[in-house]
Amino acid sequence: MTRRPIIAGNWKMNNNKAEAKELTDGIMYGVSQLEASKMPEVVLAPTYTALWQVYDLIKNEPKLSLAAQNVNPNPSGAYTGEISLDMLADFKVKFVIIGHSERRQMFGETDEFINQKAIAILEKGLIPIICCGETLEQREQGVTDTHLASQITKAFQGISPEDAKKSVIAYEPIWAIGTGKSCDAVEANRTIGEIRKVIKNLYSNDVAESIRILYGGSVKPSTIVEQMAQPEIDGGLIGGASLKADSFIELIKGAM
Ligand code: PGA
Repeated sequence: MTRRPIIAGNWKMNNNKAEAKELTDGIMYGVSQLEASKMPEVVLAPTYTALWQVYDLIKNEPKLSLAAQNVNPNPSGAYTGEISLDMLADFKVKFVIIGHSERRQMFGETDEFINQKAIAILEKGLIPIICCGETLEQREQGVTDTHLASQITKAFQGISPEDAKKSVIAYEPIWAIGTGKSCDAVEANRTIGEIRKVIKNLYSNDVAESIRILYGGSVKPSTIVEQMAQPEIDGGLIGGASLKADSFIELIKGAM
């Protein structure tokens, strides 16, 4: 089974209008030099305020697609400050990142809410990038695998095998996010293998072998080649190193 790798840049709360344009222009130039057939699927996740602009810049570039960093699962209504799937679909957003540890930890998002989002995203024909990951404390206590199994099982509740197959998971150990301290590639591979087993138990071998599972947490040009060489790792969800066109292009090349 060959799974097409994904390199996704999570811009988080960075880039005003001018910065978003400069970064997107730089990425557009960089990918124009790369052979499409060898490239991973390359995904940009700007802030909501930059979505329109980035959409407009990349709309004729099939090498790039768009993600949102979050969504509200309700169709419309009195949800001050929230953004719906209908609004994201207007900008041809293909992926939506959900369950990021920053949203779980800082904004109190629960497994149940993340599951609601996953269901709504798939119903709308978009693809969730479902994040999971353990704290340093959980890792030290040896409960990483059970914690991830619980997060994944809850996120996929009520999702059909067909929809599960299309979904993307991002394994992001919390202690590796934004710390410069990437998880050892072999250990990340082992952990992702465990996540794949959870999917196999929930669904089937076919779904487990089809679903793409990314690694995230201080992925850098200097770590990507070793990470991509691991059989279970299907790409990266990248924060810091996605904010400069040069390093993002290096990450894409590292996945080719
Ligand atoms: P980082 O962030 O690459 O800056 O560690 C990854 C993420 O949070 O998705």
